[in-house]
Amino acid sequence: MTYKDADAPNEELSCQSGYVQQLTFAGCPSFMRRPFSHELSGIDLAITGIPFDCATTNRPGTRLGPRAIREQSTLQAHDAPYGWDIDPFDTLKMVDYGDCQFDYGCVAEVPAAIEKHIAGILNQGTAALSLGGDHYVSYPILKAHAAKHGPLSLIQFDAHSDTWADESVDRIDHGTMFRRAIEDGTVLAEHSVQVGIRTNNPDTMGVNIIDAPTVHALSPEEVAAKILSIVGSRPCYLTFDIDCLDPAFAPGTGTPVSGGLSSPQAIEILRSLKGGLQLKGMDVVEVSPPYDHAGITAIAGAHIAVELICLWASCR
Ligand code: MN
Ligand code: MN
Repeated sequence: MTYKDADAPNEELSCQSGYVQQLTFAGCPSFMRRPFSHELSGIDLAITGIPFDCATTNRPGTRLGPRAIREQSTLQAHDAPYGWDIDPFDTLKMVDYGDCQFDYGCVAEVPAAIEKHIAGILNQGTAALSLGGDHYVSYPILKAHAAKHGPLSLIQFDAHSDTWADESVDRIDHGTMFRRAIEDGTVLAEHSVQVGIRTNNPDTMGVNIIDAPTVHALSPEEVAAKILSIVGSRPCYLTFDIDCLDPAFAPGTGTPVSGGLSSPQAIEILRSLKGGLQLKGMDVVEVSPPYDHAGITAIAGAHIAVELICLWASCR
């Protein structure tokens, strides 16, 4: 492990791997203390925020999610991730790419701005981990990934299927976008899986479902085995809606539903997927700081994000 002095000259601070010793509670919080940079040459992974929350059906506030997740990630930025035999933060080059820029007064232009933002990362040979934002943002992110990697299997951790039907083609929200993603061929329903579902939607669109009661009845390893058998070796994308977790573990979110996964359950499922996927990209969405308490949800979001980075690194 390489420790670098935060007071060292700038070239030392521009490190993209290793650990920077910095007070947990001080400084400008980039994700896991990675350097803020738009320079992606030789960079393996860019972490970026998508602070958009205009497609939510209930409580807003996820536009503040990326900032809160970054702040809580400093709790983990001093040490190797627990539970993995790899340390991507020491061996891979990562930057905090900052947030997607868009005009909040031109909402109709936001999807294209998000897609272009992510494509700008992927087209330089760098993978992306996105921090939402409400879950709608995953749709333009997925489109950018599919443009590069082809149709994708979706691994969706969520209390909700997000495949409900829109009343007209002119509207879309954070509960309907995956229906569109399936209909337009971005996502392959039969090779996709939703984990933690506990709301009714009779029209599954052909997506495989491991609902919350099933997760509770199985071990994390058994759940992971089911996911691997559904997705196989196909290119896949993993989206983690923080409301997959029970409100006890993630109260600060737009549409909380009781009966969900615990943090340890979700983390152990992700660890049990180690090395088994062709994982092309991932996101953590729906962290809403205004409804959070003591940073519980943002801490969970930051931990899940680190687990996703380790999973992605184990699959390279
Ligand atoms: Mn969702
Ligand atoms: Mn949800």
